[in-house]
Amino acid sequence: MSIENLARTNVRELTPYQSARRLGGSGDVWLNANEYPIAPAFQLTAQTFNRYPECQPAQVIERYAAYAGVKKEQVLVSRGADEGIELLIRTFCQPSKDAMLFCPPTYGMYAVSAETCGVERRMVAAKQDWQLDLPAIADNLDNVKLVYVCNPNNPTGNLIDPDDLRRLLEMTKGKAIVAVDEAYIEFCPQASLAGWLSDYPHLACLRTLSKAFALAGLRCGFVLGNETLIALLLKVIAPYPLPTPVADIATQALSSEGIVLMRQQVSEIATHRRWLQQALQNCAGVEQVFTSDSNYLLVRFTAARQVFNHLSAQGIIVRNQHQQPGLSGCLRITIGTRDECQRLVDALTTANETCQERM
Ligand SMILES: *Cc1c(COP(=O)(O)O)cnc(C)c1O
Repeated sequence: MSIENLARTNVRELTPYQSARRLGGSGDVWLNANEYPIAPAFQLTAQTFNRYPECQPAQVIERYAAYAGVKKEQVLVSRGADEGIELLIRTFCQPSKDAMLFCPPTYGMYAVSAETCGVERRMVAAKQDWQLDLPAIADNLDNVKLVYVCNPNNPTGNLIDPDDLRRLLEMTKGKAIVAVDEAYIEFCPQASLAGWLSDYPHLACLRTLSKAFALAGLRCGFVLGNETLIALLLKVIAPYPLPTPVADIATQALSSEGIVLMRQQVSEIATHRRWLQQALQNCAGVEQVFTSDSNYLLVRFTAARQVFNHLSAQGIIVRNQHQQPGLSGCLRITIGTRDECQRLVDALTTANETCQERM
């Protein structure tokens, strides 16, 4: 008798999230996890490792609230935005009864977290232009307690029309929480919905230090929401979610110098993105480079699998997206250093030469 049979049914049937790290690969140019390409230099200053940390470290909360332009009571800090995603499901969706809704193609963790919690996943495909299909969402809201919208969307890179977001918030009033995942919002700060919190008690914004702040290894994220929503999440979160070293580094990253540094990183990545977008548009074998408001580009190739394999063989790891609805032939490429962007373009050029020789 296998202990496999002791596991919860939904866990036995679960397909775990295929993170870039789990997928692995061997290379030296990592363009598959939307990380910042260079490690920032931080030093630990905390010493009190004999003590439990604060549940919600006051300085981190204060600094993030100031940075995001909200009140302290409107911020929760978590072990990455991924913990925030699961906390919202555990707080608002009753297993086997309530549902959560999201709009593929989008970030994979919404589905995985719901599955882990035994909560129904309601999928309403995005329209061809990757905007919200509001009539279809309206038709599918029965029992839905939580709607995830990724803005800008991962992996497509587009922003969601703010008028549609308003309509979604109106449509879900008193029925469901709308969680807007703003993991990449630093690359398009004007698009944040944080300023809408005072209008909508059922709005939550997810944030992270993993992308523009260059701290994916730190595991630090935030939920912005009104006091009532945050208080509910605080009932569910672990007693000590943030290790002392994480709070220490996060405090430094959110200092005024830390924020200046982040903004420099953002503008540098945006410059490389514009260069890479141009360069890719001139590569043979590239069908389309989608516009992006983030630190990655979604690219449709005529022969994506061969391109993926050819890049891997050259030590360049990108992320395959062909399994997502509507994304056949698409690879997602993180914007790296200028050198890494150049290596990618060079490798694509030789890929075409190799292809032509074969033909
Ligand atoms: C990277 C990412 C996250 C996860 O962020 P962490 O803080 O590293 O857990 C959440 N949402 C989206 C859309 C992401 O791309």
